[in-house]
Amino acid sequence: MTDADVIVVGAGLAGLVAACEVLDKGRSVLLVDQENADNLGGQAYWSFGGLFFVDSPEQRRLGIRDSHELALQDWLGTAGFDRPEDHWPLQWAHAYVDFAAGEKRSWLRERGLRTFPLVSWAERGGYDARGHGNSVPRFHVTWGTGPGIVEIFARRVLAPGAKVRFEYRHRVDELIVEAGAVTGVRGAVLEPTTVARGVESSRNATGEFEFRAPAVVVASGGIGGNHDLVRRNWPTRMGRVPNQLLSGVPAHVDGRMLAITSAAGANLINGDRMWHYTEGITNYHPIWPSHGIRILPGPSSIWLDATGRRLPAPLYPGFDTLGTLEYIAKTGHDYTWFVLNARIIEKEFALSGQEQNLDLTERDVRKVLSRIRPGAPAPVQRFVDRGVDFVSATTLRDLVAKMNDVPDVEPLDYDVVEAEVTARDREVANRYTKDSQVTAIRSARNYLADRVARVVAPHRITDPKAGPLIAVKLHILTRKSLGGLETDLDSRVLKPDGTAFDGLYAAGEAAGFGGGGVHGYRSLEGTFLGGCVFSGRAAGRAAVRDNG
Ligand SMILES: Cc1cc2nc3c(=O)[nH]c(=O)nc-3n(C[C@H](O)[C@H](O)[C@H](O)COP(=O)(O)OP(=O)(O)OC[C@H]3O[C@@H](n4cnc5c(N)ncnc54)[C@H](O)[C@@H]3O)c2cc1C
Repeated sequence: MTDADVIVVGAGLAGLVAACEVLDKGRSVLLVDQENADNLGGQAYWSFGGLFFVDSPEQRRLGIRDSHELALQDWLGTAGFDRPEDHWPLQWAHAYVDFAAGEKRSWLRERGLRTFPLVSWAERGGYDARGHGNSVPRFHVTWGTGPGIVEIFARRVLAPGAKVRFEYRHRVDELIVEAGAVTGVRGAVLEPTTVARGVESSRNATGEFEFRAPAVVVASGGIGGNHDLVRRNWPTRMGRVPNQLLSGVPAHVDGRMLAITSAAGANLINGDRMWHYTEGITNYHPIWPSHGIRILPGPSSIWLDATGRRLPAPLYPGFDTLGTLEYIAKTGHDYTWFVLNARIIEKEFALSGQEQNLDLTERDVRKVLSRIRPGAPAPVQRFVDRGVDFVSATTLRDLVAKMNDVPDVEPLDYDVVEAEVTARDREVANRYTKDSQVTAIRSARNYLADRVARVVAPHRITDPKAGPLIAVKLHILTRKSLGGLETDLDSRVLKPDGTAFDGLYAAGEAAGFGGGGVHGYRSLEGTFLGGCVFSGRAAGRAAVRDNG
């Protein structure tokens, strides 16, 4: 007796895409999630909706010459695959770049996806041609942000007559394995809750359940909401484990299902590869525990460590997330500082997350156009006014005094900060410079979208006409797990001996976005949502194909 053709654990983006594929093949799905119905879409709902496309019409219209070869060069230079267990991740990387340069955009557009015409430039790199980073802008923001992507797949599973059964508030605690194959799931029924989307919900159980199907897809997300797991998996190459972390994901990103799947016999790999941000700010209006928001910075702020010394080249805002994280971890402090001014914040600060970009989320053209009005964007200004991490002043001396009043900081020596800022400011007097951050700013402004909307002309940070001065205390913000369940190109979960685990599939962040770590050590950004789509689609297709 089975409950459906396929059970999908997790109703985030990867689970939704897998479910849609199963439905499209005329089969039935049972979607099991520990949260309530309001959380459909998981993390993707909160996301900015940035998507990595290669050689898109949007890029071409902006004069960007991208290609499959360039993207693959960037991906492999960024991933740094170097382990025996990178066999499948490497295959996935090739397949994913093919997808991003091929049908990804058209496949999503056929389902209703539209993107904002200005393509952004994430992870600019700053090393050589074969090093980390995007050689060109590739970050396409979904018109409607994260909810716009979720909507496409949610619409399909919620359609009248769809052969879907939803079991919300059902937490899977065990995979049922019989004769070497996964045949179902067991777990606890959690008490009903009406908490809003993203708010941490209770884990009080009111009963037990058991569901059976010939195929189970694990799409349970990563570990970023579980700081104990993040710390336990913290890589030794990154030095000390941070004491203070903010959460960039809701509490349901708890990582439990990875250990459960591993205990059933699946191979879990690359657990020490994670993608956390270094520009986290404390949310003045938190939704989930320790809620932090990521600043998506333009390149002009000067970045100082906790003692006021400038971070080394090329650790500039938006260049190398993980390189910066590794550097910070080794400084012995868990935070750093941006020092900038009103002119820079106005053009160069954006915040990640759908609720921080309501103009794009609500597809409101008038409000989007108002971004070019003078002054910081409204969501950023709210953080300046209300956030604990922001201070401003008209003189550098006053600014440093205010930085020293921010909670939990080491006192800064004014002379150290003044020396760094003044030296940097001297470098903008000429059209040429030895300061590679200033060179990088000039280079970025050769790209039309950056010049118009994202990067200010080089100027003195202390120029009174660009003031007041602003400083931001930046925290480490947990977000993505880059490792996960090892899978082949059909999203079939593998056992430690390399053979496929019958009846078991994995997709999305739980599978390291494909293979157990399609990104290797680092990401080019905008690659996670697409990784959920690509691996979820493969899982849904294979689950149907393999089971008659
Ligand atoms: C603020 C924010 C901004 C982002 N911006 C971007 C972006 O611009 N571009 C990009 O590519 N990516 C972005 N991301 C990342 C991306 O959204 C996620 O990596 C992706 O959505 C993960 O999807 P998933 O389906 O794998 O997992 P999730 O969304 O985490 O869904 C997993 C689901 O499984 C359920 N679950 C877990 N364990 C169990 C269990 N034992 N039993 C039952 N249910 C369980 C959870 O409740 C959850 O609903 C962003 C993420 C956030 C939070």
